[in-house]
Amino acid sequence: MVNLDTGNEEGDAILVVGGGIAGVTSAIEAAEAGCQVVLVEKSAYLGGHVAAFHRYFPKLCPPPCGLEIDFRRLQNNPRITVYTLAEVESLNGSPGNYEAVIRIMPRYVTAACTLCGECERVCPVEIPDAFNCGITKTKAIHLPHRMAFPAQYMIDDDACSNDCSLCADTCRYLAIDLKQKETKKTLRVASVVFATGWAPYDAAKIDNLGFGTCANVVTNVMLERMAAPDGPTAGRIVRPSDGKAPRAVAFVQCAGSRDRNHLPYCSGVCCTASLKQAGYIHSQYPEAKISMFYIDLRTPGHLEDFASKAIAANGIELIKGKVGKVQEQPVSRDLLVTAEDVLGGRKIAREYDIVVLAVGIVPQSAGLPGCVALDEFGFASTNGGPGVLAAGCVKRPAEVAVSIRDATGAALKAMQSVAGRANHG
Ligand SMILES: Cc1cc2nc3c(=O)[nH]c(=O)nc-3n(C[C@H](O)[C@H](O)[C@H](O)COP(=O)(O)OP(=O)(O)OC[C@H]3O[C@@H](n4cnc5c(N)ncnc54)[C@H](O)[C@@H]3O)c2cc1C
Repeated sequence: MVNLDTGNEEGDAILVVGGGIAGVTSAIEAAEAGCQVVLVEKSAYLGGHVAAFHRYFPKLCPPPCGLEIDFRRLQNNPRITVYTLAEVESLNGSPGNYEAVIRIMPRYVTAACTLCGECERVCPVEIPDAFNCGITKTKAIHLPHRMAFPAQYMIDDDACSNDCSLCADTCRYLAIDLKQKETKKTLRVASVVFATGWAPYDAAKIDNLGFGTCANVVTNVMLERMAAPDGPTAGRIVRPSDGKAPRAVAFVQCAGSRDRNHLPYCSGVCCTASLKQAGYIHSQYPEAKISMFYIDLRTPGHLEDFASKAIAANGIELIKGKVGKVQEQPVSRDLLVTAEDVLGGRKIAREYDIVVLAVGIVPQSAGLPGCVALDEFGFASTNGGPGVLAAGCVKRPAEVAVSIRDATGAALKAMQSVAGRANHG
């Protein structure tokens, strides 16, 4: 990765904010067309949510399939500079001529890191592993995840105590620099693409569905990690309370979505995601009963075909009706699900070993500049004039293929700003 400071004409660059699949796509497409690109990602690794999936629909291939190719393209392109652990502090200017101040947090681990893992072994501080949704613990110094790009350890500033230097004392490659400080960088760029994506809705806010109070209620995002071979249970989907194999699993669709008290909108991808995840359960436990409680099954366009095949292949029982309550049974910690069965015209109560809440998508638009209009739900509803663009799930809930297409379009618009700047001298 080459730094923008080294010999590129300042001002002609495109700044991409957010290194998920959308941001990485915009960066690569613009760079491969000849533009200088600076990619700024607030976490320690690129890939966003896709990096944490077990498989992605519709092809059900594992995420490294697409991401690894993208990372190779990115790494081989001298026009792209990447800053991780970084955010945009301010953005001023006008189309074709913006000044952005980037704040870069210290990683404390340099490129000399060989991933030997000795530092992690001696580190005395355990913290919840954010990549695994807190299901397992990691150390204050850790590799963000096994396939992380960049493949470099980091220290969690909040967890690490100031008077401990065990990791640095142990590292024989001198790759740990505890004196690193936050730095700032001022860039002049022609255009900015915001691809800051989404976060899952906080399931603990949905009182009646038992998340946080019932041990065996998990979210769809957690299930992705539970199913992943490098996840907290090495890919085995088991009951969190006792590690036992589930005999019956319920998916609760629209957990907090299409609900005025939570997210009033449809998150678009959750029905297809749950059908995919039902496949994870069926492949591990062909005898397990799988029920899906839904309001309407929404699998638009070509995903309709994926849905009908997944329902048939995984023996999913579809129950049209909203779940009223999930309660934990004493001792067994089984889950009693009470719901309407709209088509049967009755109320039903069933027991399950695991309940998966299909929580929706919340746009991460808080840091977008004022020139980008937000809709009533917080999604970016317009671009911010010719030079400031939004791409991916920060605009609307979308599957990966749609996010990629959107990001490619944003790269083109950003490149037009660069070209406009050149034309105007
Ligand atoms: C449970 C679930 C399963 C899914 N499964 C599939 C599937 O199988 N197939 C499929 O096609 N789609 C699936 N999706 C949809 C998929 O997750 C999205 O299409 C995809 O994540 C969109 O990518 P993105 O880059 O827009 O956002 P994200 O993946 O959210 O990436 C955004 C990036 O921006 C960074 N960021 C955020 N704020 C800032 C900031 N202020 N400064 C710098 N960086 C920032 C984040 O750290 C992150 O790296 C699923 C969604 C859910 C909820």
